[in-house]
Amino acid sequence: MAMDDLQASTSGEARRYDVIVVGGGPAGLSAAETAAEGGARVAVLERQKEIGYPVHTSGGTWISDMRALGIPTDLFYPIRKVIFLSPRRQVQFDYAEPVCCVLDVRGLYQHLAGRAVAAGAEVHPNTPVEGPILEDGRVVGVIAKDHRNRAGEWRAPVVVDASGFSSTIITRAGVRTGFRRYGFGAEYDLYAPNYDPNSLYLIMGSQVAPSGYAWAFPRGKGRVRLGVGVLRPDVDADAREYLDAFTERLPSLAPAFVGASPIEYHTGLFPSEGVVPRFVESGLIATGDAAGHGSTLVGEGIRFAIYSGRMAGTVAGEAVRAGDPSAAFLARYDRQWRARFGREMEISYIVNQRIANWSDTQWDEGIELLRRLSPGQAAELLRGDYSVALLLGVLRRNPKLLRSGAKKFFDLALERLGRAAPVTEAEVLTPNA
Ligand SMILES: Cc1cc2nc3c(=O)[nH]c(=O)nc-3n(C[C@H](O)[C@H](O)[C@H](O)COP(=O)(O)OP(=O)(O)OC[C@H]3O[C@@H](n4cnc5c(N)ncnc54)[C@H](O)[C@@H]3O)c2cc1C
Repeated sequence: MAMDDLQASTSGEARRYDVIVVGGGPAGLSAAETAAEGGARVAVLERQKEIGYPVHTSGGTWISDMRALGIPTDLFYPIRKVIFLSPRRQVQFDYAEPVCCVLDVRGLYQHLAGRAVAAGAEVHPNTPVEGPILEDGRVVGVIAKDHRNRAGEWRAPVVVDASGFSSTIITRAGVRTGFRRYGFGAEYDLYAPNYDPNSLYLIMGSQVAPSGYAWAFPRGKGRVRLGVGVLRPDVDADAREYLDAFTERLPSLAPAFVGASPIEYHTGLFPSEGVVPRFVESGLIATGDAAGHGSTLVGEGIRFAIYSGRMAGTVAGEAVRAGDPSAAFLARYDRQWRARFGREMEISYIVNQRIANWSDTQWDEGIELLRRLSPGQAAELLRGDYSVALLLGVLRRNPKLLRSGAKKFFDLALERLGRAAPVTEAEVLTPNA
């Protein structure tokens, strides 16, 4: 911390920066890095005493994205087998060359914090933000308490709301209301010596997770994250109760957890409403979960938070250099994000709404359909990497979908991907037609 900051805090004067980032999760730390790279003087304000603690995520993600984002390989654990379970069905996909992985979450967040600091940003742990400072309808800073519990003003032309689910600034600035539909997850991080370290499970059905799913994510050295997530308010089930009864509710997996014991306990909330209509305002940019930028398909948000944070920080830096933090200037971030992710997020939300309340029988049928896909197709679907070729490929392996209610979904998704004509049996049954 610079000496003048210390003096400002004791004299009660406002601290001044170019960009203030609220929240030191993956979105905020990534925004801080790119804003600082753009020449801005940046402060990240994080309410917790440590970056990456407490963990409130399972850390499942994709190796290609971690490579693209320059994440060191010792921060993720590659997965070789992905197993989907429904009440009466099971399908396994093997990846000799792993495509998905489980993160060392705390390690990743601290790595991102190190990168932000190396780029020139300051990180202030133990600094909870109470709300925005608004002047003439514009966000011009925030009120935060420092590590000695003294409230003070932190002023900057651009504030980045990266406060996750709580979306502290954007909701208090009146840009939108809080999330009403969300995933509620509870998870044990166990030492489980009898668990197969290569197998990642995604488990559906009313026994283990009504309107949601359960998961078991190995992460090396005998550790496994075992969790349950449910969608609120679709159901009012308590994920914690289902988690505690997991091995009784799914006896087939009980042997994998013999001799296991939790070492950590995590809970968290994830927005599940699809893309929010607005995430910039004059002097304000929201990113990551605060902007609803995660995928509602399986409740995946870490890589999206990093990408969205990087975009937000870049545009914040540009606004500072241009001396223009107006909503009109910052809207370029909105446009860039929608151009890159809007379509896949929209389709994922359509899928989420279709499958969220599936019955056990529908899950069994769904797993049967998955069985006919190649490991590559299954991974693309799970990633939400929709393309016309992928959707037609899925239909070619499951032509009976064209005679079911699913046809409407495929037509809608293909339309979103830019194909106006509804899909026909002829083109599915004769691939080269
Ligand atoms: C149970 C569960 C499991 C999940 N599993 C996965 C998974 O396997 N893979 C995946 O990709 N995603 C997963 N997600 C989603 C993922 O965790 C989020 O999308 C991701 O963490 C979003 O990052 P973020 O930086 O936007 O927000 P967060 O990670 O929530 O970070 C926000 C930060 O802001 C801080 N903050 C909040 N309010 C204030 C304030 N007033 N003042 C100062 N600081 C504040 C918080 O302390 C926090 O550090 C899961 C989510 C849940 C709930």
